[in-house]
Amino acid sequence: MTITEEIKINTVASSKVSTLDFGNIPLGRTFTDHMFICDYHDGKWNEPRVEPLDHIPTHPAAMALHYGQAIFEGMKATITGEGVPMLFRADKNAARLNFSARRMGMPEFPEELFVEGLKALVKTERSWIPPQDGSALYLRPFMYADEPFIGMRAATSFKFIIIASPAGPFFSNRIKLYAEKHYIRAAEGGTGEAKAAGNYAAAIRPTEIAKSKGYDQVLWLDAHEHKYIQEVGTMNIFFKINGAFVTPSKDGAILDGITRMSVMDVLRGKGYEVIERPITIDEIATASKNGTLEEAFGTGTAVGIAYIQEIGWGEQTIHVSDESPVGVDVNNTLNAIKTGKTTDQFNWMTPVV
Ligand SMILES: *Cc1c(COP(=O)(O)O)cnc(C)c1O
Repeated sequence: MTITEEIKINTVASSKVSTLDFGNIPLGRTFTDHMFICDYHDGKWNEPRVEPLDHIPTHPAAMALHYGQAIFEGMKATITGEGVPMLFRADKNAARLNFSARRMGMPEFPEELFVEGLKALVKTERSWIPPQDGSALYLRPFMYADEPFIGMRAATSFKFIIIASPAGPFFSNRIKLYAEKHYIRAAEGGTGEAKAAGNYAAAIRPTEIAKSKGYDQVLWLDAHEHKYIQEVGTMNIFFKINGAFVTPSKDGAILDGITRMSVMDVLRGKGYEVIERPITIDEIATASKNGTLEEAFGTGTAVGIAYIQEIGWGEQTIHVSDESPVGVDVNNTLNAIKTGKTTDQFNWMTPVV
């Protein structure tokens, strides 16, 4: 029996999709009719199934609530002009989920089943995929410890779930970042490389503070010297200095973004030099002053590419740029690949058939 045949599908009697205004989708608040769900107990994953999305009874001692064994992924399904749903680099998300699982002492999820579960859910929710350019069906695979137990050890029962939420075209206003000198996101040896729920819990308060100062996101600096640039909120970061692109090298604390790796390929394909190396905030301030800082943008699944206008750093305001022509071009290329409007030269897309 193949894994696909093992996925049981139990659909709703009547879909809620007719209640969705595709021209005005409230971000992150609308969920499709179904979820994919699988339970880990007795040392293995059991009963993969697509079923109506519903509340899940939770024991008050469920370990994820107390000790934070919880990880997630974020990805998107798009649809081509011919109506074929597509997944973008799903194998990379499958591998990263398991990287996170290992770091957090959680069981790995079979990567083939991860992709087949996504396909089964996307096929069921095909009518929920918004067709406009730049819009998509956001997919949120996640895993958490649901064993009721008080005590510090790895849990023995978990749930793996995928939910889906339609997302309209994202109009990125140019963003302002606040370079954080006090709080840190991650340190070497910590959990910064894992997409672990707790990383985001720790970032919420600093982000609220940055927002109260008029910024959109925190620019995270390294934990030791508050000097090396790591990443932004839920995005990696690129700078164009003197014609070439630089992005912070993976230092053991930044998240290995799939958009990051894809943007490096797209930029190189367009003839740009891309260098991964440590980048200090002083270097960016200097490049801004001497006119060699040409653009900067954040990269991540949720927004694609977010163009950076300026960075607040202590008393200084580092002006980046008022336009991001290369960023816009790369974003258009990524969207065209995702909707089948240009050839998928990198072989990134998986049709859901
Ligand atoms: C998810 C995430 C990213 C972006 O990763 P993508 O795979 O490109 O979506 C970057 N940084 C952090 C902290 C993230 O959680």
